[in-house]
Amino acid sequence: MKRLDDIKQIGGFSDQEIKKIKSYHKVSYKVLEVDGVSYPAWRIQHSNALGPGKGGIRYHQDVSEEEVKSLSLLMSFKNALAGLPYGGGKGGIKVNPKEKTQQELEKISRAYARAFADVLGQDIDIPAPDVYTNAQIMGWILDEYEKTIGHHEPGMITGKPLALGGIAMRGDATARGGAIVAEAFFESMNMPKNGQTVAVQGFGNAGSFMAKFLQEASFKVVAVSDSNGGIKNMNGLNVEDVISAKAGGKSLAESGLGETISNQDLLELEVDVLVLAALENQITQENAEKIKAKTIIELANGPISADADKILFAKGVYVIPDLLANSGGVTVSYFEWAQNRTGNILDEQYLMDKLQIMMRDAWHRVFEVYSELDRKMDFRTAGYLLAMRRILEAEKARGMLS
Ligand code: NAD
Repeated sequence: MKRLDDIKQIGGFSDQEIKKIKSYHKVSYKVLEVDGVSYPAWRIQHSNALGPGKGGIRYHQDVSEEEVKSLSLLMSFKNALAGLPYGGGKGGIKVNPKEKTQQELEKISRAYARAFADVLGQDIDIPAPDVYTNAQIMGWILDEYEKTIGHHEPGMITGKPLALGGIAMRGDATARGGAIVAEAFFESMNMPKNGQTVAVQGFGNAGSFMAKFLQEASFKVVAVSDSNGGIKNMNGLNVEDVISAKAGGKSLAESGLGETISNQDLLELEVDVLVLAALENQITQENAEKIKAKTIIELANGPISADADKILFAKGVYVIPDLLANSGGVTVSYFEWAQNRTGNILDEQYLMDKLQIMMRDAWHRVFEVYSELDRKMDFRTAGYLLAMRRILEAEKARGMLS
């Protein structure tokens, strides 16, 4: 919200327009009762001007209405910037999934599908995996939803198992999209990408594929970390070896593939590119001054606080923001939804090319606004501006705004 107030002035938006953007279309809250335990749960649709809501469901013990609301607004902006026919939505259940058995998680997921069946649907609001939710959970939710409504509707959810109409590309789509934007950024800035050093915080799904794709694109990955710490080798890590060591059950430190470092060390390394692919609020006003990377790519949602953004901009650090950098995931979800709706399976190479075109297009639109405004704003502000313009244009076309 703080960022929206800054953008009001830069974008010349009216009070009425900002009020519209700050309002939420639908906030649904239910308490799920499963085996005598109560779980607060939400599905929040920020906007439906451009189409049905779209955004993940997270299972986390700290989920709150405030968090789900801000993530749903971010989804509206991400979908609008990516040129998708979606509004924004997000869901959450306040539960610690690490303390639950698979059977318990299945019951909780099915309870969620029943409780929110009236606000979900392929033309209403379409969930997907997010923090601590996966394809299996999407499969349970789809099954229970279809039983509740009494007919098949695979397009009501994305990121589901292949057997239920999922899409193979979804697994590495976020990183693929992030790597496409990273390459396009270096081209637009007339900077050579060969040998640019990269550190990746969060060697999970998004981060490990990102490291692999960047190495394939001739960047030099020199450090990676996960929740237990990290490793570095300034001559370059072999990402495939690191992935194999982790798959073999070794921690990064045990892999022996580099010198061990802490997460804080990794964030403050002298590298060209820092990829944030773990959690929210990793760079705040506490450590922003210490960051030495020249470019930061946000694969995670919200890893840089609003205050830190200002410090980094003043230092001349380029930040490729979450709403642009990680939109490859939702773009491939859109391909899945479109296939489910038409019943037509599209060729994977065609979809890879389409992802490349859509991600590059989004980047170039952001870069154009950034250049037009004489590079006086960061890429996030440029992305927000474009997203807000697109949402407000749709609201106006609907007659919901003058
Ligand atoms: P994941 O659970 O597969 O990976 C997260 C990784 O971060 C794990 O390796 C974990 O050990 C590590 N981690 C946790 N705390 C850390 C810390 N303090 N320091 C360093 N590493 C730490 O999750 P993911 O799917 O890769 O998602 C990562 C981020 O990307 C999340 O913020 C998610 O919302 C965002 N994102 C993911 C996708 C996707 O398609 N996977 C799409 C959009 C956004």
